Amino acid sequence: MSAIELKGVWVEYGEQIVLERVNLTLASGAFVSIVGPSGAGKSTFLRLLLGEERPTRGRVLLDGKPLPPEPGPDRGVVFQRYSVFPHLTVLRNVLLAFEFERSRVLARLTGAARRAAIVQSESLIDEVGLSAHRDKYPYALSGGMQQRLAIAQALARRPKVLLLDEPFGALDPGTRAQMHGLITQLWKDCGMTVVMVTHDISEAFALGTRLVTLNHTRVDPQAPGRYGATVTYDFDLTRNSAIPIRGAPKAATQSLEEAMNGKGTTP
Ligand code: ADP
Repeated sequence: MSAIELKGVWVEYGEQIVLERVNLTLASGAFVSIVGPSGAGKSTFLRLLLGEERPTRGRVLLDGKPLPPEPGPDRGVVFQRYSVFPHLTVLRNVLLAFEFERSRVLARLTGAARRAAIVQSESLIDEVGLSAHRDKYPYALSGGMQQRLAIAQALARRPKVLLLDEPFGALDPGTRAQMHGLITQLWKDCGMTVVMVTHDISEAFALGTRLVTLNHTRVDPQAPGRYGATVTYDFDLTRNSAIPIRGAPKAATQSLEEAMNGKGTTP
């Protein structure tokens, strides 16, 4: 499990400010849902946590230490469009993730190490419900199955933090509901900190223990890149009613809907 802290974080691309003044502490083991309108910097926020992006100002800490400047095995990621290898079977896809983890240079295991990795891959494939499909190639899997495979790959590295970028956005409602059950179970079993970006407010409430909105609090119509988005609402969802850590309790749902629809809000 891992705690994440963002202290005075800004992300700027030249003149364009994407994120500004982001201050957030996410407890170890939390399931954090991130919502906000398109272009509010949600993917940028995830890339910051992955280590693909560096803040131009401020600091990102993982367990109190500066985040390493590149993606590492302590952080796994699942995107909306899965990133599985089309020319490898389910088993080989997961095995490759183990091989990358254990043998960084060659990405290849031999002998007893390989046999052990195969057993672990099979167990993970079983956990995500793909045992019956372990020798199939991705083209022969449904969208939901491919996302299960992507999740198994991400978990093979035993991440302390799992980052999900709209992982269920391309799935039909039935499959999405099954995936909600699966990810909740894996989160509980693995004791990870999960940070999930979603467009679906009901999904954000259903899965999260914490809900954070990113949005612009000020807009300059003449210069859209002049101000960045920041944390506008922050709710602890573990209480009976959502308790705002930041933002007004009144009309919280309306404010969230506005945040999702892209209207700037001033908490
Ligand atoms: P969201 O995920 O909320 O839709 P993004 O994080 O993808 O938002 O993007 C936020 C803003 O940052 C957008 O205006 C986008 O054009 C800009 N942006 C993202 N990545 C880059 C980049 N590498 N260079 C320049 N601008 C970028």
